[in-house]
Amino acid sequence: MKFLIRLGMMTLIGALLGGTAHAQGAPVSPVKALSERDVYYPGTEDLAPDEMRVIALGTGQPTVRPKQAAASFLVELGNGDKFLFDLGYGSMQRLAAMKIPMDYLDKVFIGHLHMDHMGDLDALWIGGLKMNRTYPLRVWGPSGATPEMGMKHAVEGLKQFLHWDAVTVAGLIDTRGQQLEVNEFDYRGVNEIIYQENGVTIRSIPAIHVTDGAVSFILEWNGLKFAYSSDTFPNKWWMEHTKGADISIHECFASPQILLEKQKYPPPLALALSVFKHTSPQQFGKVMAMTEPRLAVGYHFYNDHDTLPVILEQVRRTYDGPLAMASDYMVFNVTKDDIRVRMAAVDTEIWPSLSTRPTKRNPPKGSLFSDFTESGMEPMPALIKGIYDAFNERNGTNVPVPAPK
Ligand SMILES: [Zn+2]
Ligand SMILES: [Zn+2]
Repeated sequence: MKFLIRLGMMTLIGALLGGTAHAQGAPVSPVKALSERDVYYPGTEDLAPDEMRVIALGTGQPTVRPKQAAASFLVELGNGDKFLFDLGYGSMQRLAAMKIPMDYLDKVFIGHLHMDHMGDLDALWIGGLKMNRTYPLRVWGPSGATPEMGMKHAVEGLKQFLHWDAVTVAGLIDTRGQQLEVNEFDYRGVNEIIYQENGVTIRSIPAIHVTDGAVSFILEWNGLKFAYSSDTFPNKWWMEHTKGADISIHECFASPQILLEKQKYPPPLALALSVFKHTSPQQFGKVMAMTEPRLAVGYHFYNDHDTLPVILEQVRRTYDGPLAMASDYMVFNVTKDDIRVRMAAVDTEIWPSLSTRPTKRNPPKGSLFSDFTESGMEPMPALIKGIYDAFNERNGTNVPVPAPK
C-alpha cells in the first residue's frame, strides 16, 4: 500500500514536470522546452515593452584577442530602438552573432577617437551596407580641442580610406546605406542632450582621458537610466550625473601589478596607465560606492582566471554593492523590478542577418577593368557556360553569360 502511494506521488510529480514516471529510477524526461533558461540565445527572446537589454560586445584591453574584442556595448529597448555605444575593433564580429537584421543597426555613439572605441566603424558601415542596410549609418561623436581632433574630421578621413570600396560597390547594391551621417557635438557639454527621439534621451558629459575630447554617455528611457563611461579618469561629472543609474558601465582597467607582470610595462608606465590614463580597480570601486547604481559593471580588462580574482579583490576594497565584471557576450536584462545577468550562447557559424526590407541588387554594369587587366583573364568559356547553364536549369532562370568587353 505504502509502495502504491509512493508510486502515485511519483506519477503526479512526473506529470507536473511534463513527463511520466517509471516504476523505478528517474522520471521520463520532459519533452517540452524548459521555460526558464540561464543562457541567452540570440534572436529567441522577446523584449518586454518596459525592458532594456544591454549586451557586452567588446570588453577587453585596447589590443584585440580571441576572447575579447575592444570596447562596445549594444543597448536594445522595448520600444524597438537599438543603440551602439563605442564600436572598438573586433566588436562587429560579436554584433553579427546577435542575429539582428542590419537595418536595425544605424545609430552609433563614440566616446573618444581611440581605435579600441571606434575601430570597427568601417566594418559596420560597409558590412551593414553589404547586408542590405537601406539607411544611412548615423554616428555621434565629440568635438576635440581643434577641428582635426573631432569626430567629423575622423569620419571624413574614413570616407577617404573607404573610397575604393565605395566606387566598386556603386550601382551593385542599394546605395542609400552608403551615406554616413556624422553628428559632432561639443565635448564640453555637461549633461547636454545630443539625441532625443521616440522617448529616448541621450546626454553627454565630459570624460578625462589622455587629452581633451573624450566623453561619457547617459541614456534615459521609460524611467530607466544607462550610463557608459567609455574611457575616463574618475571625474565630478560622472559622480554628479550618473548617481543611481539602473546600469552603470564604467571602465575598470587592469591593475598596475597586472600590467607590470603580464604586459611587462615599466613600473612608471604600469602605474600611470592604470591610475591616470584609465581607472584602476580600486578607483572603479570608489566611483561605484559614490554613485550607487542598481548594477555596477566593470570593463576594459582582460577577464581571465588569473586576472579576475586580483581585480575583484581590489574592487571589493572600495565597493560592496551589486557588481558584474564584464566579458564579451554578457547580457543584462534591465527592468524597474529586476536586473538579470547571463552569458549569450553564440553560434560561430552564424551568418550576418539579412535586412527585413526590400532592397535593390543590380548585376554589374560592364567591366571596370582597363584593357591591361582584362588582357590577363583566363576566359574558360566552356566551363563558365556550363556553370551558367546548370544554375539556370536548377533555378528556372535565364541569366546570359556576359559578353566579353
Ligand atoms: Zn582610450
Ligand atoms: Zn579604451
